[in-house]
Amino acid sequence: MSGQASAGPLAQVFVVANQKGGVGKTTTTVNLAAALAKQGVRTLLVDLDPQGNATMGSGVDKSGLGQSVYDVLVGLVEVGQAIVGSPAGYDVLPANRDLAGAEVELVDLESREHRLAQALASLGDRYQMVLVDCPPSLSMLTLNGLCAANGVIIPMQCEYFALEGLSDLVNSIKRVHAGLNKRLQIIGLLRVMFDPRMTLSQQVSEQLERHFGRQVFQTVIPRNVRLAEAPSHGLPGVLYDPSSRGSVAYLNFAQELIDRLGLDQQKVTT
Ligand code: ADP
Ligand code: MG
Repeated sequence: MSGQASAGPLAQVFVVANQKGGVGKTTTTVNLAAALAKQGVRTLLVDLDPQGNATMGSGVDKSGLGQSVYDVLVGLVEVGQAIVGSPAGYDVLPANRDLAGAEVELVDLESREHRLAQALASLGDRYQMVLVDCPPSLSMLTLNGLCAANGVIIPMQCEYFALEGLSDLVNSIKRVHAGLNKRLQIIGLLRVMFDPRMTLSQQVSEQLERHFGRQVFQTVIPRNVRLAEAPSHGLPGVLYDPSSRGSVAYLNFAQELIDRLGLDQQKVTT
């Protein structure tokens, strides 16, 4: 935190978490990062999933990495040495298969839950926003994400079993808040892959609003095939096809977040 050129506010660090797989965590992280970058917000995406989907979806080749988030977590390199730029306009602390080994190696290390937090703190005010993509588990890696963050964004599909998994996640967040990271709070629940033609989707969506009130983001992300196609082109959906319904929704979501947080937008004129 010292040695920075200007002493601006530290970055907001948000984890995108849900212990279920395939619920839209990576799609949300990548598109939110790109949408924020488009709005002039200095953004870093941290990939905490050994699958490296967020890395690839940002247009960074995970097989050609020099250093990755793994090397940072186990203390082999400084975080700045592993960060790379992406064609999507934000920076990436990338991941690949190496990260699968971190789970075991971290157990023997000192302050094992706080390794990512310590690394990000050393970046000072280089970024305004750090978004962390988590693996589909409540593992040591996700724990590192939760300990580094001040907020959690929870993407949810509006289906019957979604609510069941939610209480496990909320309990984990409460435990981390109580024992490891007092700054952690739930920023909001984001409804994703929404299909308005399904009555169940509508019902679960309304139930979420009743239970969680203002913690449910107003923006709803529809199911949209352009978002699913984008990663194979090495681009976030919001850059691959900005006018598609899914992209427009993520751009709106970024704006909703900016408005809530009062982030400074430094408009990039190109
Ligand atoms: P997670 O990271 O939680 O495992 P992903 O973001 O990888 O989930 O999404 C799972 C799959 O669903 C991916 O194939 C992704 O392209 C697709 N997908 C995610 N969000 C949408 C959406 N809004 N519309 C259509 N497909 C989506
Ligand atoms: Mg994922």
